[in-house]
Amino acid sequence: EDASRLPNASHVRLRPEIIATPPYRQGKPAAPDAFKLSSNENPFPPLPGVIEAISAAHDVNRYPDATATALRERLAAEHGVSADEIHVGSGSVALLSQFIQAAAGPGDEVLYSWRSFEAYPGLVTVAGATSVPIANNGNGAHDLTSIADAITDRTRVVIVCTPNNPTGTIITAIDFAAFMQKVPAHVLVLLDEAYAEFVRDDTAVNGLDIVGRYPNLVVLRTFSKAYGLAGLRVGWALGSEQLLDAARASAIPLSVTGPAQAAAIASLDRSDELLSRVDVLVERRDHVVARLREQGWAIPATQSNFVWLATGNETDAAAATFTEHGIVSRPFAGAGIRLSIGEPESVDKLLAAAEVIVNSL
Ligand code: PMP
Repeated sequence: EDASRLPNASHVRLRPEIIATPPYRQGKPAAPDAFKLSSNENPFPPLPGVIEAISAAHDVNRYPDATATALRERLAAEHGVSADEIHVGSGSVALLSQFIQAAAGPGDEVLYSWRSFEAYPGLVTVAGATSVPIANNGNGAHDLTSIADAITDRTRVVIVCTPNNPTGTIITAIDFAAFMQKVPAHVLVLLDEAYAEFVRDDTAVNGLDIVGRYPNLVVLRTFSKAYGLAGLRVGWALGSEQLLDAARASAIPLSVTGPAQAAAIASLDRSDELLSRVDVLVERRDHVVARLREQGWAIPATQSNFVWLATGNETDAAAATFTEHGIVSRPFAGAGIRLSIGEPESVDKLLAAAEVIVNSL
């Protein structure tokens, strides 16, 4: 580690709950030729047409369109809503932050399933609100009954993640409808569907189909995963104007750059090609899951671009085995390891490491 050069500032009064919050951490390749399967990224390189659109958005001496009008109009037309019922942010994680801040502050509760996307607890802390994590069921899926039962008069937001990161499990349309019946109308429900395009289970809920039924529901989508634009940071929300206006008021202005907006539109223009890449990844996922099960792993029913290995107390050792096999994994101490479905060449390495690990458990 590089030694500090500036004076120690630990006497400056900062919010204690913030000091206690660890910063968001990314998996990093230990070796340059290692396959980075730690962040659920898309292994395909950007399409040439998308790169061209980014280069063409060259007027970067000017601020971008603050409300991403062209992109919102495009998404609105595709999904049969008004452009005011779409809101764009610098990644869906920024949107999560905006909606949480818009609805929950000190004394308020935000419910979510756990384990789920590792950014949720930190975003709730920054808002000054209280996290109420509800344990997943034994299969790594949301326990919607327990989540509904945990709603109190302090609950302001419920985050529901389908497919769930890191287990990949989906929520069925039937279960989601039953859940929404139990959620009071004043509680904001955020349906985080970052991995929706990888779902092939037709019993799964699809927020885009049902958002019109529930005034308190916002659906969150992203260009980071299926559309392969993780580095440009574009996410979007679909929901009632009153909810989106509150998120817009909570946003850092101008955070979605012009090149990012242009790349998202160019990606929508090429969605057939991009979604056929998703088909390839889905096939690869199903292959990996089948082989892992043959090896003896109990894999949750993933509908996403990653798999979850429940390595429990052996997680650190298992992560080291992946590193030795040239794979950067995402270990969650004491719980398990999440691995993205990446390049074709990563698959055999992933499977070889997993076989060593399962035989040592
Ligand atoms: N939601 C979930 C469930 C995720 O896994 C991620 C990314 N890992 C995000 C949201 C945020 O993605 P982005 O900000 O890149 O849109």
